[in-house]
Amino acid sequence: MTRWEMLAQAMPREIDGVPIDAAVITSEENCRYISGFHASARVAVVTREAAYLLTDFRYGEAARMQVKDCKVVVYRKLSKSIEEILRRHDIRGVLLEREKLTLAQAEMYRNVCGQWNALPVTDATLDTLLRELRAVKTEAEIREIQAAQAITDAAFSHILQYIDGTRSERDIALELEFFMRRQGAEKIAFDTIVVSGANGSMCHGVPSDKKIQKGDLITMDFGAVVNGYHSDMTRTVAYGQVNEEQQAVYRTVLQAQLAAIEAVRAGVPCNEVDRAAREVIDRCYPGAFGHTTGHGVGLEIHEWPCFAPSCQTPTKPGMVITVEPGIYLEGRFGVRIEDMVLVTENGCENLTRSAKELLVL
Ligand code: ZN
Ligand code: ZN
Repeated sequence: MTRWEMLAQAMPREIDGVPIDAAVITSEENCRYISGFHASARVAVVTREAAYLLTDFRYGEAARMQVKDCKVVVYRKLSKSIEEILRRHDIRGVLLEREKLTLAQAEMYRNVCGQWNALPVTDATLDTLLRELRAVKTEAEIREIQAAQAITDAAFSHILQYIDGTRSERDIALELEFFMRRQGAEKIAFDTIVVSGANGSMCHGVPSDKKIQKGDLITMDFGAVVNGYHSDMTRTVAYGQVNEEQQAVYRTVLQAQLAAIEAVRAGVPCNEVDRAAREVIDRCYPGAFGHTTGHGVGLEIHEWPCFAPSCQTPTKPGMVITVEPGIYLEGRFGVRIEDMVLVTENGCENLTRSAKELLVL
């Protein structure tokens, strides 16, 4: 079954008395998921009988070559082309996305639907359907994520011999990014984080001009994108000898991370995985782990579901989720270790290959 057929099958027959027979997908990643195509101008329209990818002249040729499962429509005026599709399929109710639609777009779609007596539905239905479909990766999607992670692992090996006391956090971040691009990443997965010494307590700190010093722990959080799919990994390494406390914190984070990975298995609720990591850290460092344990990864760097205290969703085979506990001691230092795991029936497969024992450079 194609992706649009899966979506069409999952769409409810009606919502609050409105018969649902189409979905208009405007956000970049959802549109890419449904059509396999991405460009700055693109909309996918899924009906129960057919699916369309609409784009403008600039991308028409590429769309005709790349889009396999949807009919390609090159529009002059987007609203006119959508209205024609609604008319052709006698559409009465249209699901719209909610989270990423701008007010201007919502107004435009409301007008288009009004032209043809169809009703737009802007509750969370379409967002929920798409995030649930996207959460379970196909084998082809897993291969893309693995390819992105292979570049990320290679970048980590490379950076270990690059780091020394003459490099700043920015130097290291830039070198990671150049390396990944040179290895075939189409782009980096997110703004690279390199924080060292006292900066390490800022879990999402921005790389600065601070030079690496003896006794620093250096936290590097980075990833690559291959064919739209992201990777995400964090490693914390020591530059020169670090003290007992730094080592103890590192050991605790690693123990928490391993406990969470151990807890992953299809059917286990996400918050149980979170709890496995959190219990280990809260015992010795209460309040030092303030973010969630992990998030789904795919066409976006942060996807549903999350290993979060509030997420009761049971994991399913094929989900790819990060496991990334950390300890942050304000003004002093921080440690985070992050892998991406693939949920399987009996446990999980770790897609991250880089070593995790504390490396002293
Ligand atoms: Zn990360
Ligand atoms: Zn992450």
